[in-house]
Amino acid sequence: MKEFQHFINGQFCRSDQYFEKLSPVNNSLIGRVYEARQGEVDAAVGAAEAALKGPWAMMSVDERVTILNAVADEISRRFDDFVAAEMADTGQPESVMKHVFIPRGAANFRVFANVIKNVPGETFVTETPDGMGAINYSLRKPKGVIGVVCPWNAPFLLMTWKVAPALACGNTVVVKPSEEAPATATLLGEVMEAVGVPKGVYNVVHGGGKNSAGEFITSHPKVDAITFTGESETGTAIMRAAALGLRDVSFELGGKNAGIVFADCDFDKAIDSFVRSVFLSCGQVCLGTERVYVERPIFDKFVQALADRAKTLKPGAPDDPATTLGPLISREHREKVVSYYKKAVAEGATVVTGGGVPNMPDEFAEGSWVEPTIWTGLVETSAVVREEIFGPCCHIAPFDSEDEVVELANNTDYGLSTTIWTRDLSRAHRVAAKVDVGITWVNSWFLRDLRTPFGGSKHSGIGREGGVHSLEFYTELRNVCVKL
Ligand code: NAD
Repeated sequence: MKEFQHFINGQFCRSDQYFEKLSPVNNSLIGRVYEARQGEVDAAVGAAEAALKGPWAMMSVDERVTILNAVADEISRRFDDFVAAEMADTGQPESVMKHVFIPRGAANFRVFANVIKNVPGETFVTETPDGMGAINYSLRKPKGVIGVVCPWNAPFLLMTWKVAPALACGNTVVVKPSEEAPATATLLGEVMEAVGVPKGVYNVVHGGGKNSAGEFITSHPKVDAITFTGESETGTAIMRAAALGLRDVSFELGGKNAGIVFADCDFDKAIDSFVRSVFLSCGQVCLGTERVYVERPIFDKFVQALADRAKTLKPGAPDDPATTLGPLISREHREKVVSYYKKAVAEGATVVTGGGVPNMPDEFAEGSWVEPTIWTGLVETSAVVREEIFGPCCHIAPFDSEDEVVELANNTDYGLSTTIWTRDLSRAHRVAAKVDVGITWVNSWFLRDLRTPFGGSKHSGIGREGGVHSLEFYTELRNVCVKL
């Protein structure tokens, strides 16, 4: 049985309580996860605070860049370990791990090493009444100890997306991985140790949210800022905790993303893309599409084509190359998703495909599997159309005009992402400017350039991370005025 220990001040350690991590694939026991109490969180925060004054603080930017690139190299060297660890935690197919989630973890360190090396400065020559003038310039300083609280979907990619810029800017971190995905954050501790990241710079404490490690970190007076990815409701609780001590927050939260399909689109490419944006990772992607709006002339054809493709998705063992659909993360999450499947029927949906739990072979019978599901016929006020489900499902509705579809897409509390499918580029630009979201893809989905701003509007987040935008959160910008 595996053990997931905390990594505090450069050392792996246990605590006197633990919980069990179960496999989403068959509910078998993967390992024991130690659960931090306030004392372990205090130790991790203390180590992170002390490291801000030690060798880490003395390093030049060039030295930090070298060490971040070494972290990326070591992740690549231990690629198979990371793939295996994340595959066990999430049950998602190996191909997704190998092509998206793990390479992006290494890329995050490379990208932010590059960003920090090329930060532009800001200088103003100021006129003064005596004619002598002044020069104003800006300095960026690390913010301090950053609390990093992470979700279970794409855990390594999302955690390193925050740890890499935090370290690039000279901060130290205390990471709290999700209780459902403890493995890769722990493994990253081994990487940090191997490449010589100074003790206390990268700390991991395991545990839950409320009344556990998550809350102990976010309410800790010595944590200077909190970066969080997860549900919008959790964001609200963390923001309350951060108000004490007036700590800064960066939030990447939930979504109820719309896909907009005009009749002139490249139909086959659009279908290929929606198969990914609705069903990738069993629909557990914050950027995934749960509301699809299709122009009426191609509505029936689109619904049929996407349903046909959904039926071909093959659930199975993550390391079987034939598997194209993993399970949900846990039995608990499956209960939530299935409750929406039932709600959809109660709300009067037409179930085009799916809607239940599949019959799996004995070896997977205890896993958290659900059927890929498509509905039509719901009103926009139904819970299934308004609330984030985070499963392999979408509702498809027809529209008749550009103005109508913009209104439909924006009729949500969330504002994370939208996809627009059309061959009319003027229309694509027009609609992109009108949809109230942080990120819009035209004729694509999940095509990411890590230098671009990433985040959501409305209930989908606060702030933007990515490229130089991450510097706004991970550094304090100071002004120096020199009178000449
Ligand atoms: P969650 O909010 O339940 O948990 C996320 C983390 O917060 C976990 O580590 C949890 O232990 C911790 N936590 C829970 N309550 C806490 C509290 N009161 N104080 C401190 N920490 C607490 O989210 P999840 O279920 O793990 O992840 C799925 C959610 O994440 C979805 O809503 C999804 O849309 C969102 N998400 C958003 C993005 C984005 O970039 N916008 C990316 C991935 C996931």
